[in-house]
Amino acid sequence: SNNVTELAFASQQSSSGLLPCIVQHALSGEVLMQGYMNAEAVEHTLSEGKVTFYSRSKQRLWTKGESSGNFLQLVSLHTDCDNDSLLALALPQGPTCHLGTQSCFTAPDGSAEPMLTELENVIRSRKGEAADTSYTASLFAAGIKRAAQKVGEEGVEVALAAAVGDKEELLNESADLLYHLLVVLQSSDLSLNDVLQVLADRRSK
Ligand code: AMP
Ligand code: ZN
Ligand code: ZN
Ligand code: ZN
Repeated sequence: SNNVTELAFASQQSSSGLLPCIVQHALSGEVLMQGYMNAEAVEHTLSEGKVTFYSRSKQRLWTKGESSGNFLQLVSLHTDCDNDSLLALALPQGPTCHLGTQSCFTAPDGSAEPMLTELENVIRSRKGEAADTSYTASLFAAGIKRAAQKVGEEGVEVALAAAVGDKEELLNESADLLYHLLVVLQSSDLSLNDVLQVLADRRSK
C-alpha cells in the first residue's frame, strides 16, 4: 500500500528505527538492491518519488543516485505481512549497483535475473555473432522478416494446440512463441520491459 502513515508506522516497529527495504524492478521483477529506511526515508521516498534510504555508513538520508544520477524512480512502496520489511517497486534510471551492473545481485552467470530477462540477455548477446554459431545468431543474420515469420508460425501453433486441448503441446509452442517474440523485439531494438510498460500503462487507465 502507499499509505504514508501506515508505512511510517511500520518503520516505528523496528527497535533500531530502521527497516530493510528490497528494491525490485517494477516491470521485470528483477531484485535490484537492498538498503535500510527509517520513517524520514519513507516519507522522503514517497514525497520525492525517488527511493531514499537511511545510510548507516553515511549516517544520513541517502537518495540512491544523488551523485551518480542513477536514481530509482519509485512506482510503489509496500510493507510486508508483519510490518518489519519494505518492498519498493521502482524504475532504475541507470545501473543500480555502484559497480556498474543493473542489479547488486547480478552474478557473472546472470543467474540472479528473472528467467525472461536472462533469456533476453542471452538473445541480445547473440546479435552480430556468426550465423553458424547458434540458431539465435542465424535468425538475426537472416533478418527481421525471418524472425517475424517464425512468430507468425509459432502463434498459429499455440492457437492450434489450445484449440485441441493439448496442454503439453501448448506449453512447448508457447515457449517457442515467447523465444521468437524476444528475438523479433531485439531485432527491432525493443525489450520485454518496453512491452510490459505498455501493459502497465493500460492497467492504470
Ligand atoms: P549514488 O547514490 O548512486 O549517487 O552513489 C553514491 C555512493 O553510494 C556510491 O559511491 C557508493 O558508495 C554508494 N552506493 C551507490 N549505489 C549503491 C548500492 N547499490 N549499494 C550500496 N552502496 C551504493
Ligand atoms: Zn515480515
Ligand atoms: Zn551493488
Ligand atoms: Zn513451435
